[in-house]
Amino acid sequence: MLAKTVVKRLKEIVGEKNVVTDKVGLFSYGYDGTLLAGQALGVVSPHTTEQVVEIVKLMNEHNIKLVPRGAGTNESGGTIPSENSVVISFTKMTKIHEIDTENFVAVVEPGVINFDLQVELEKKKFYFPPDPSSFKASTIGGNVGECSGGPKCFKYGVTRDYILGLEVVLPNGKVIQTGGRNFQSEPGYDLTRIIVGSEGILGLVTKVFVRILPIPRTKKTMLAIYDKVEDASQTVADIVAAGIIPTTLELMDNLLINTTEDFTHAGIPRDAGAVLIIEVDGYPEDMDGQVKTIGDIAKTIAKEFKVAQSAVEVDQIWTSRRSAFGSVARVRPSYGVNDITVPRSNFPKAIEGVLKVAKDFGVTIGVVAHAGDGNLHPLILFDQRNKEETETVHAAEQALCMMALDLEGTISGEHGIGLVKKKYLDKEFTPAAMEAFRKVKLSFDPTNRFNPGKIIDI
Ligand SMILES: Cc1cc2nc3c(=O)[nH]c(=O)nc-3n(C[C@H](O)[C@H](O)[C@H](O)COP(=O)(O)OP(=O)(O)OC[C@H]3O[C@@H](n4cnc5c(N)ncnc54)[C@H](O)[C@@H]3O)c2cc1C
Repeated sequence: MLAKTVVKRLKEIVGEKNVVTDKVGLFSYGYDGTLLAGQALGVVSPHTTEQVVEIVKLMNEHNIKLVPRGAGTNESGGTIPSENSVVISFTKMTKIHEIDTENFVAVVEPGVINFDLQVELEKKKFYFPPDPSSFKASTIGGNVGECSGGPKCFKYGVTRDYILGLEVVLPNGKVIQTGGRNFQSEPGYDLTRIIVGSEGILGLVTKVFVRILPIPRTKKTMLAIYDKVEDASQTVADIVAAGIIPTTLELMDNLLINTTEDFTHAGIPRDAGAVLIIEVDGYPEDMDGQVKTIGDIAKTIAKEFKVAQSAVEVDQIWTSRRSAFGSVARVRPSYGVNDITVPRSNFPKAIEGVLKVAKDFGVTIGVVAHAGDGNLHPLILFDQRNKEETETVHAAEQALCMMALDLEGTISGEHGIGLVKKKYLDKEFTPAAMEAFRKVKLSFDPTNRFNPGKIIDI
C-alpha cells in the first residue's frame, strides 16, 4: 500500500481525480493484452511534462518503481505492474501540439490515440503510416514503446521510421530532447532510436515528433482466396521475388476467416484455406498496372482473385482483419498471441513450421500475418484454467520462437519482449550482446526504477 503522505503528494501534483488507489481501480490496471496480471500500489495520470518530472522525483525519494502505460494493449506483458510500483498512465496527455504540413511533422503528446491522430491528419490530407491493428485504442507513446508495426509496414516501414524526435523524462528526473523536426539524423548517438522500442525501461516519453506523409491519391484493395494456407504463403514469396512492394500483404487462415466471418459477414468464403488481403496505393494512372501484375502472380495459385468494388467492401475486409485477435474468444476461453518474424523469402517455410508445431504439440493454432514483412502471429487457442494444456501451449510457443531463429528470423517482430519473451532473448543474442543491453539500461537507469523486470534482468 502507498503511504498516505505519498498519496497526498501525488494528488497535489496531478489533482485528486488523477490518482487511483482503490482495489477495483488497481485491479483493472493489473492487466494488458497478455494473460499475465500484477498489482500496482497506485496509478497516477499526469497532464504535463512538469507533472511527470515531479512524480519521478517523488517516487525516487520513496524508492518506488514506475511502470509507464498507454492503452495497455501490448502483447508482451510490458505494462504488468512489478512489485513496489506505481503505474504512470499517459492517457491524459492527449494534446496534438502541432501539425506542420510544410515540414511533414506533427508534434504530439504520448497519450494521443493513433486513430485520433489519423483523423486530425486526414483533415489536412496527411497520415501517419504506422497503423497497428489496435490503432483505434493504442497510443502513440505505446507505439513508440513497442516500435509497433502494422498492415502498411511492408511498403512504409515501422514506427521507428516515423519518429523524428522525442522529449523524454529520465529516471533521475531530468528532461532531454532527442532529435526534433529535422528530417536528417541528429549528431552523435541516435538516442531517438535507442528509446524507440525500449518498452519504457529507459525513459518516460512526454512528447513525440512524428513524421507524416500526404495521403496517397488512390488505393486499390484486393482479396486472393486459396485452398491451402501454404498456397497463400507461396504467393507472398512470389510477389516479393518479383520485386513488387504492395502497401499491404496480410494473411488470415481458415480458422480466422471463420471466427471473423461470424460477425463481420464480409463474404470471405468460409471453406477457404487462407486469404491474402493485398493493397496498393499511388497515382491513379499506376493502379491498373499494379493490380494486373499482382493478379497475374496470385492467379497462378489462388482459386479466386477479387478487387474490392466499393468503400463498404474495403471496410468490411479491414474490419475482419483488424478484429482477428478478439474474434477467437468464441472458440476457446484463452489465446496466446505469438509474434515471430522471418526474412520474407522464408515465409512459406515459417508457415510450414507453424503447421508442424500445431501437429507436434496437438494445439489449435490460427494464423494471421503481416505476411509482406515476414511477420506471423500464430494464435494458440486453449483454456488457461487447464494447467497441463497451458504448459503444452508454452512449450509450443517456445518451439515457434526456435523455429523462427532457425529460419534466420527473430523472436519478436513488433510486440516486444516485455515479460513474455524475456526467457528467449539470450537464444537470439550472444552473451556479449546481452551484456551490452544491460549496460545501456544501467547507463539510463542505474537503480532500475523504470519498468523493472521487462526485457532483461539487471
Ligand atoms: C487487437 C490487437 C491488435 C494489435 N495489432 C498490432 C499490430 O498490428 N502491430 C503491432 O505492432 N502491435 C499490435 N498490437 C499490440 C499493441 O497494440 C501495440 O504494441 C501498441 O503499440 C501498444 O500501445 P498501447 O498504447 O496499448 O501501449 P501499452 O501497452 O500501454 O504500452 C506498451 C509499452 O510502451 C511503454 N510505454 C507506454 N507509454 C509510454 C511512454 N509515454 N513512455 C515510455 N514508455 C511507454 C509501456 O511501458 C510498454 O512497455 C495489437 C494488440 C491488440 C490487442
